[in-house]
Amino acid sequence: MERTLTILKPDSVAAGNSGKIIDHLEAEGFEVVAIRKLRLSEAQAQAFYEVHRERPFYSSLVAFMTEGPVVAMALERENAVRKLREVMGATNPDDAAPGTVRALHASSIERNAIHGSDSPENALLELAFFFSRADLVG
Ligand code: GDP
Repeated sequence: MERTLTILKPDSVAAGNSGKIIDHLEAEGFEVVAIRKLRLSEAQAQAFYEVHRERPFYSSLVAFMTEGPVVAMALERENAVRKLREVMGATNPDDAAPGTVRALHASSIERNAIHGSDSPENALLELAFFFSRADLVG
């Protein structure tokens, strides 16, 4: 069993798609180990996306991620990191495989519905960003 971090982004929450996306993830075998709805501060969004600081879309991404509440979840299943990336679909919804969360719910390369950790190492760091050890007893 492996854990990963997902964020239902502000576009998904504002559109009322959180429940549909959680259903989709559960149908793909993910168990929700922990869940939080919160609005990221600018400092939190900047820190979370620190790796993208030099990219031209960084300030726009931070503005998007702070425009409304998000739903962060710790998810568990076999090969959770790789499987979540598959179920999410490509970053750009134009390239996302049919039936993926982004093909179904994303509206642009930026407003793309969902975040998922991109490696087991980053999953541990990102889970710790949102959840304490006591939240993750499972
Ligand atoms: P992910 O791992 O598929 O989420 O993609 P990345 O780690 O490369 O990018 C992080 C997030 O930045 C994406 O999910 C998008 O919300 C946003 N993003 C990525 N590429 C672009 C881009 O070219 N333009 C804009 N405006 N946003 C982007």
